[in-house]
This record gives sequence, structure tokens and C-alpha cells, in this order.
Amino acid sequence: MTAPSLAPRTLFAADALLPAGWARNVLLSWDEKGRLTEVLTDVDLQSGEAGEAEDAIRAAGPVIPGMPNLHSHAFQRAFGGLTEFRGQAQDSFWSWRNLMYGFANRMTPEALEAIATWLYLEMLEAGYTSVCEFHYVHHDVGGKPYADDATLSLALLRAAEKTGIVMTLLPVLYQTSGFGGKPPREDQARFIRSTDSMLSLLQRLTPATQAQNAVLGLAPHSLRAVPPDSLKAAVAGLHAMLPQAPVHIHIAEQTQEVDDCLAWSGQRPVQWLLEHAPVDESWCLVHATHMTADEYAGAARTGAVAGICPTTEANLGDGIFDMPLWLQHGGRWGVGSDSHACVNAAEELLMLEYGQRLSRRQRNVLASSGQPEVATAMTLQAVQGGAQAAGRAIGGLAVGEQADLVALGAQHVALRDLPAPSMLSAHVFGSHRTSAIDSVWVAGQQRITGGRHTLHDAAAHAFVAARSATIAPD
Ligand code: ZN
Repeated sequence: MTAPSLAPRTLFAADALLPAGWARNVLLSWDEKGRLTEVLTDVDLQSGEAGEAEDAIRAAGPVIPGMPNLHSHAFQRAFGGLTEFRGQAQDSFWSWRNLMYGFANRMTPEALEAIATWLYLEMLEAGYTSVCEFHYVHHDVGGKPYADDATLSLALLRAAEKTGIVMTLLPVLYQTSGFGGKPPREDQARFIRSTDSMLSLLQRLTPATQAQNAVLGLAPHSLRAVPPDSLKAAVAGLHAMLPQAPVHIHIAEQTQEVDDCLAWSGQRPVQWLLEHAPVDESWCLVHATHMTADEYAGAARTGAVAGICPTTEANLGDGIFDMPLWLQHGGRWGVGSDSHACVNAAEELLMLEYGQRLSRRQRNVLASSGQPEVATAMTLQAVQGGAQAAGRAIGGLAVGEQADLVALGAQHVALRDLPAPSMLSAHVFGSHRTSAIDSVWVAGQQRITGGRHTLHDAAAHAFVAARSATIAPD
């Protein structure tokens, strides 16, 4: 790791994407904690008045804010490509989930750490600078708690620390296999814990997360996995301990979940949640794919973030979130790579926009009234929503926010000689065979140089070994 005291703390960019839009000749400065202390525009490096600017690092191209990844299940990275075959006459989310449980039940702490280390490194190379880890495999095989109950959470925290990505750790509460208190399945045994045991896990994890600048929150898995009393007690317990802590929940991802919720309560999942839980700005509603017009309006009104995972939702055949309707109600949103069918911030934005185009037979759907460039509008919104969901000051290139920066390479063939907004468009919509990302800083520390992380080769090697061990036949 680089010694923070010696690392330069100013970056000069000919173009940078600030919260209000693109600016020219931008000088970004941060303090020893990696927090932006100054954002100057129209700086003239030749004038002699630029002072510290002359010693600043020069960005290789336009600088954009690092993208928060608001939804990740790290272990699922190990079986990318291994569920893309037909196993039943009609494969679905639910048949995929059976395969996924098979992988979850072969995971060891060592394998999880190797898989997560590679995944977080990939995220950094692909423009994500923070990750919300929705972590639900808690126990050893068969459901036996580890001697240290936090074993697998700590493996994830170590992976984050090694790569330099910042983490919001969301231990998952999982208690039932269906609405109405249906007992858990045998293959869910590694996920299951009581509400009290969840609150002690959070207590156990508080010093560990604080020590590495991670945020701790809670993820009630879904309404089908957490009965109403437990949901209430767990959220109240969390907020008694950590008042601002984020709460993430999977909601209304699948139509079957909506039907089951209706059969159980007479209400749809989002409708039920809004009536029975204290949903506010600290919440992230992951997926929220199947909502009525009233639910879109009601959920947006709470200030909660919609956690959209476009490539996973496409991979699993979930459905398409109605983004224009959400935005019409002032809804906030961010993106997550979820099952890691794809680990690339730009491709999540592309898939999200393309889903809207396909369903509406229109183009440039997610441009905003103030920002006609789709990639620019989406980046700014997803960074802000992702920051809120992560519970961190990572909402863009402004004083007080963390210096999470991504520099594109202006010499990449897809970008060369284009104006900056078009460079970002080319990065999002047209440079997939090779990444245009040149450098990445997290909290002011450079983690990616020339498109690569220093641990790239070693982490790749360990990942492949861990994957082979995990997919070995029973
Ligand atoms: Zn998920």
C-alpha cells in the first residue's frame, strides 16, 4: 500500500464531471483522510498563479466520480457463466436459485475471501469505488455457526481492505422460506439466524467496520424471508445502535413473490412494506421491479433509493423497472452488480437505458431536462443515489465528498479527439471490447493505474483456484 503522507493530493483534469455538469480545467484537492477540500474550475496552469496545481497529478482524460455499487453478493461471482444452460423446460429465477444454493453451500471462508478479493479488484478496474455487500452466507455447512460468528463477514472486510474498495457491509437477516413463517429449507441453513443473534453480530462487527472506514447496516433479505415481527425488531435494534445506518431489502423482484405476498396479506410487497415499515431515506429498495403506479409514487415519496441491477435483472428474467415513472415522482436510484453476471459500471447504465428503449420504443429515455447527454445524466444520478444507499459521503466531485475519482484515457481509440461529454458516452455506449478507464482513486488513494490493479495477477490466480474448488462435483 502507498504511504498516504507521501501520496500527492491534487489532481488536475482538463475536463471533470461536477454535480452541476462538465467543467474545464478542474483542480481537485483532498485532505489526508481523502475528503475533497477544494474543487476549482477554469484553472490556468500557465499563469504562474496556479501554485500547487503545478505539482498536481495530470489525469489521462476526463474525470468522473467513482460509481457506488449498491448491491453485491460476492460469492456469486464464482459461478458466472455456469448457469447459462437449460435445465428445465422453462428455467426461471427459481431454478437459478437452486443452482446458486449449491454453490453457496460449498463456500469456505478461504474461498470467499479469494473470490471477493478478485471481485472487488474487478469492480475497481471497472469504475466502481465502493460496494454495498448484501451478505447472507453466515454459517458453516449445515448451518453450524463458526467459532467466531463473524468469520465470513470478516473475510469480506479483509477482501475490501486488500483491494482498497470501501465497503458498506449489510449482514442479511434470513429466517423463513416463504410468507407466513414457512420454515427454512435445508439448503438455506447457512443463512438462518434469530433477530437477537443478528443484533449481536452487528455489535461484534461495529469495531471491525469502524477500523477500516467501512459502514455497517442491515439487510432484511425480503418479505418472504423475514416475518413482520422480526423485521420490526431488527430495524429498531439496528437504529438504536447506529441511528443513520442503511437498511437494504430485496423487494418485488419476481411476479411470483408479488402473488405470494398478495395471497398472504392481501397486499403487494411494496404496498405492504410502505404500510408496515419505517421506510425513509436510509432504505434501499433493491429491484422493486413490480410496482403499480401508486407504489411508484409512494415509494419515491419516502426518499428511499431504488437499487436497480440491470444486467442481473436481465440475466434472471425479472422484468423492467419503469424508470421514467420513478423519475417523474422524484425517485432516487443507483445501480448494483448483484449476481455479477457483469462487473462493469458503464454496462449497467447501458443495460438500464436499453431496457427502457426496448420497452418504450424510444431513444435517449434517461436524458433529463437539464442534461441531454444520457450517459452524463445517468452517471450523476446513479452516483448520488448510490452514495445515499451506501450511507457515505461519496456523492460526486464536490467539497466534503470523498475523493473517489475515475479518469478515462483520452487516448483510448473510442474516445480520442472527442469532446468530454461524448467521451463519457463512448465509454458507456461504445467501448466494451477494451475498457477506457485509465486510473481510479478511492478516498484519494490511487488504486488503478493504466487500467490495472497492482494485485491483478495474484488475485486472478487465487480466484480461479477458489472457483475450481467450489464448483467441484459433490
Ligand atoms: Zn440480490
